[in-house]
Amino acid sequence: MRKKIVAGNWKMNLNRTESIQLVSEISKEIKDIKIGNNRIIVAPVSVNLAAVVENQGNDKKIEYASQNMHFAEKGAYTGEVSAGILKGINVNITLLGHSERREYFKEDDVLLKQKVDAAIANEIEIIFCFGEKLEDRESENHFKIVESQIKNALFHLKESDWSKIVLAYEPVWAIGTGKTATPEQAQEMHAFIRNLVKENYHNNVAENVSILYGGSVKPANAQEIFGKPDVDGGLIGGAALKADMFAEIIRAMK
Ligand code: PEP
Repeated sequence: MRKKIVAGNWKMNLNRTESIQLVSEISKEIKDIKIGNNRIIVAPVSVNLAAVVENQGNDKKIEYASQNMHFAEKGAYTGEVSAGILKGINVNITLLGHSERREYFKEDDVLLKQKVDAAIANEIEIIFCFGEKLEDRESENHFKIVESQIKNALFHLKESDWSKIVLAYEPVWAIGTGKTATPEQAQEMHAFIRNLVKENYHNNVAENVSILYGGSVKPANAQEIFGKPDVDGGLIGGAALKADMFAEIIRAMK
C-alpha cells in the first residue's frame, strides 16, 4: 500500500543555525501527531544536511533529502554532490528534476535520466519532480508534456526500481505563485500519471507509487487537495519554512 508523504523543499533558504532551529520547531509542532505509515521529509540546503541529520538524535519522525544530486560518483564537477557523499552523511533521498533546476540550470530529460540511474544504483530514493508550464496548460499540451517528462527519465527502470521512486507533480505555474491547481485539476493529472505507470508496468507498481502534488500548498488548501484519491500528499515550498504551517499541512495528510 502506498504511503502518504509531506515533503518540504527549503530551496536556498536558512543557514545552519536556522535549519537546526526549524527542524526543532517542526518536531515540537508535530509531537502529538500520529504519523503511522505516513512520512515527513525535509530537504535543507545541502551544506546544512549533515548538521540537521546529526542533530536529529532519536527523533526519527522526520527524514532528510537532498535537493539535488550529480550523476557521477566523484570527479571534476565543481559545486556538485554525489550519491556516495550523501550516503556518507546518512541521506538516502534526493529530489530530482525540480522545475527550478530545469529552468535555471537547464537540466533536461537526458541529464535527469543519468541522475535517476545514479541514484538507483546507489539505492537513493528519488522524489522525481515534473510538471507543465503555463503555456503548456493553456495550449492543452499538459498531459503530453508530463507524459514525456516521466517516460524519458523513468520508464527505462526495472519494475523493482520503482520502490525507490516517489513522483511529484508540480505545475510550474503554481510554484511560488500563490496559484494552486484546483483539487480536481490535481486529481485529473494524478490519475493520468498513475494510469501511465500502470500501462508501462503493472497495476501493483501504479498502486504502490506515491504521487505528490506541489504548487502553493498551504494549510488552507492542503486538506482538500490531499483528500483526492490519487493525491498522496504534497511537496511544499514556501509553507515548509514555517513550522506551524508545515505542521498543519502534515495534519492534513490522513
Ligand atoms: C516547490 O518549490 O516545490 C513548491 C511547491 O513551492 P511552493 O509551495 O512555494 O509553491
